[in-house]
Amino acid sequence: METVAPLPMTPPPGAVTACQKCGECCRRYTISTLPHEIERQAKFFKLSEEQFISIYTRLLVQFLPYHSSDHPLSMHVKMLPKKIWENLQSSGFEGEYVIILPMIGFKKDNYCVFFDSKTFGCSMHLVKPMQCTLFPFTSLKDNEDYAKAHDFCELSKISSPTNSTSEIQKFHRQEWGVFFDKVAHWGLEKTYPHWPEDGHVLHNGKIIAPIQKKQLLALLELAGKKNKPSNEKGNVAQ
Ligand code: SF4
Ligand code: SF4
Repeated sequence: METVAPLPMTPPPGAVTACQKCGECCRRYTISTLPHEIERQAKFFKLSEEQFISIYTRLLVQFLPYHSSDHPLSMHVKMLPKKIWENLQSSGFEGEYVIILPMIGFKKDNYCVFFDSKTFGCSMHLVKPMQCTLFPFTSLKDNEDYAKAHDFCELSKISSPTNSTSEIQKFHRQEWGVFFDKVAHWGLEKTYPHWPEDGHVLHNGKIIAPIQKKQLLALLELAGKKNKPSNEKGNVAQ
């Protein structure tokens, strides 16, 4: 088994006993795994990165409403294929830009593919994504009321914000900052070494359309060239 260095921080006081191992955080959210995390996860399962991605991940594209093009993962909605845009509109999406993020797959019961329903634990606990390790203290808001934001989670109710939850928040932002710098420099396509062949587009956690790797990479290339609608009439062709 791969030896994994612990995250460079101490957990908040009481965190270990406060987590009820209810598994709700593995069911309610779709999880992103960063490129260097995929490297560790593949090694943990003694697989190549390509095999790991093909076996355990799906291409899940989360569309979040966003107000401007200044985010390295953002794309104007008019660049989306017509069918996807129509499905987005009918699902109540009102933003002008979307943020694109690759996600780990989930099962039919909405639990993450790595959730072990027998032990209510994570089958890659030692190398799980930072997003999971730091949950629920990962807000982008300053002075977040974690207990309110995640009222289903007992761990969020420990006396927050403590110094260590602030450290966790800072670390989380730094790690994403490094990732965004890479995306801004290399583009999203090249930031990840491999991509799953197909998957789904999500909005508000619901699947709204299928998407293929080829289709997404074409969109990303287009977004890299010009993050503006190609014309005022409509979307790129399917
Ligand atoms: S972190 Fe919270 S939601 Fe996740 S298993 Fe622990 S108590 Fe449940
Ligand atoms: S990777 Fe592990 S901790 Fe993270 S959501 Fe999946 S099962 Fe839960």
